[in-house]
Amino acid sequence: MLAVKILAVSDQIVDRIYSLATSEQFQDVEFILGCGDLPYTYLEYIVTVLNKPLYYVPGNHDPMYNPQDIRSRAEGCFNLDLRTMCHKKSLIGGFGGSIRYRPDGTNQYTQFEAYSRVVRMLPQLVGNRIRHGRALDILISHSPPFGIHDDTDRAHIGLKALNWLMRIAKPRYLLHGHTHFYRNNISQSDSEVGSTRVINVYPYKIIDLV
Ligand SMILES: [Zn+2]
Repeated sequence: MLAVKILAVSDQIVDRIYSLATSEQFQDVEFILGCGDLPYTYLEYIVTVLNKPLYYVPGNHDPMYNPQDIRSRAEGCFNLDLRTMCHKKSLIGGFGGSIRYRPDGTNQYTQFEAYSRVVRMLPQLVGNRIRHGRALDILISHSPPFGIHDDTDRAHIGLKALNWLMRIAKPRYLLHGHTHFYRNNISQSDSEVGSTRVINVYPYKIIDLV
């Protein structure tokens, strides 16, 4: 993976992005990553102004993806849910959704369902390892992994399948959203877990990936 500067966004519209997007600050951003729960019009605006590729995963407040319905996707952006792709030399993978906390919720999964979603990614991860010598450089998810930047309430428990995915794919970075709270006025948003740096991007971060 080459050293690249990226913009990551998640969960909350930031008015400043509307003004910053037209300024110099974001001009050397290589690509944009969306970690979910943002209006697709916002993603479309960012990609239009910056004119750089945007890869995203849906969150639990986003519509269920439906190829027949234009409102279920961000036009001009790449939905990376359960997919991997190679942007120049960077291998990026995506895992949308959160823990299931409502029976009828969209993009919500039980711990077991989340594991079965990781299984669906395995052929691509194996293919990357054969072709590129590694499975992933960057994993974007909506949910945090279990026990890392998550919480104990029903809606904000992390997905154990993401811990497993980190162990088998060994991405250098895992960028997520979904949790945005301050516990005892301390916000933990950047953690080293094995060989992976886990970053909560809420509401946006500019990151130099190395
Ligand atoms: Zn969420």
